[in-house]
Amino acid sequence: MSDRPPPQRDAIPLLTSSLFIFCFGFRTFDVVVIGAGIIGVTTARQLLQNHGDLKFAILEKEQEIASHQSGHNSGVIHSGIYYTPGSLKAKLCVRGAALLYEFCERKSIPHRRCGKLIVAVDQQEIPRLRALYERGLRNQVPGLAMIGPKQIKEKEPYCRGLMAVDSPNTGIVIYKYVAKSCLDEFWDYGGCLITDFEVAGIEMTRESPMGSEGMQYPVMIRSTKGEDVYCKYVVTCAGLFSDRLSQISGCSPEPRIVPFRGDYLMLKPEKRYLVKGNIYPVPDPRFPFLGVHFTPRFDGNVWLGPNAVLAFKREGYKLCDFSARDVADAVAYRGPSGVRAQALDRDGNLVDDFVFDSGTGTIASRILHVRNAPSPAATSSLAIAEMIADEAAKRFGL
Ligand SMILES: Cc1cc2nc3c(=O)[nH]c(=O)nc-3n(C[C@H](O)[C@H](O)[C@H](O)COP(=O)(O)OP(=O)(O)OC[C@H]3O[C@@H](n4cnc5c(N)ncnc54)[C@H](O)[C@@H]3O)c2cc1C
Repeated sequence: MSDRPPPQRDAIPLLTSSLFIFCFGFRTFDVVVIGAGIIGVTTARQLLQNHGDLKFAILEKEQEIASHQSGHNSGVIHSGIYYTPGSLKAKLCVRGAALLYEFCERKSIPHRRCGKLIVAVDQQEIPRLRALYERGLRNQVPGLAMIGPKQIKEKEPYCRGLMAVDSPNTGIVIYKYVAKSCLDEFWDYGGCLITDFEVAGIEMTRESPMGSEGMQYPVMIRSTKGEDVYCKYVVTCAGLFSDRLSQISGCSPEPRIVPFRGDYLMLKPEKRYLVKGNIYPVPDPRFPFLGVHFTPRFDGNVWLGPNAVLAFKREGYKLCDFSARDVADAVAYRGPSGVRAQALDRDGNLVDDFVFDSGTGTIASRILHVRNAPSPAATSSLAIAEMIADEAAKRFGL
């Protein structure tokens, strides 16, 4: 499919909590999903698709969906090369990419299967590159090949390297449009989005809300403004705040979230011809990130990034400190930033795989937490949603 410009989807109306009360006149639901990033929205859509007879709501603290990680990322559709064979990341990325391409085709969401090269520029990197290739094969990534300098030049005329992994199934998309398209379907099936609702408390209540029968909706969710929503079950998909959401529901704050900011630079317009597809380095095994890479965007820009620095604020996108010394000649101006939610275990180790967790205490059987969903969670979102929906059906007996 196409690389035509994205449709004008920003015109999608935003629902506020007051509009929600006006539209629906009640505040009880079977299942509430907290967080309208790509994981929350795809999960809510999948749950509603599987259980059309139930009432669902998504609660989001911002005015708009996908305002944080899902709207501040590289926009790469990863193919699944890097991840430990058998891990959730490996399985869900490969399946997620396939589902995402299918979804984008069906919904006419602009995307491009522009491919990717992981390029070794130094002899010392070649064993690691080969190991990556083997890993990709074990993960059943489609179309992988090892290529030499001549083929690198054929694919990326301005790229020099000794050897590369060629991944033709890697692509680009704007994840905000994927999330908005999923939200459209969620609305079509009768789901409800409540924005401007920052969850401040989740607890079991002794009383049901006025007008509801008995104790049908025993979980009370309260906003920072004192509004209440009642439900039977909760799924939290709060990204950078997943540990805090867990904690306020009486569940464990571990693993904790550490925010890592990623900044991008953009190539000067007259230098954009240098890059055709995604170009990545061989990752440094000491770090959990994939390395600074070139990524083409739909507006014609080419981004270079993201770096990874500890952020001083979970949703802080401004750079306080910047050294111009390392800015290469071809790089024109600062691009956008994102903040990654990376989970850290009790011993201070970065948690590599996706983590989904039930609750503890009295609410345990009624709550499911997405605790760690870093990259490639946007790629994997439709597969993660399938998994969470199955798990929720089992645990909650939906
Ligand atoms: C710089 C960067 C580059 C990346 N590149 C890629 C890439 O190329 N490909 C890829 O697959 N992945 C990439 N990722 C990862 C991907 O963006 C994330 O894994 C994914 O977006 C996580 O989605 P999410 O829904 O879990 O989190 P988010 O998008 O952060 O959504 C969480 C939502 O919860 C809401 N929320 C939080 N607390 C509350 C509360 N108390 N009450 C109500 N709502 C609340 C937030 O407002 C937010 O909308 C990248 C991430 C970053 C930061």
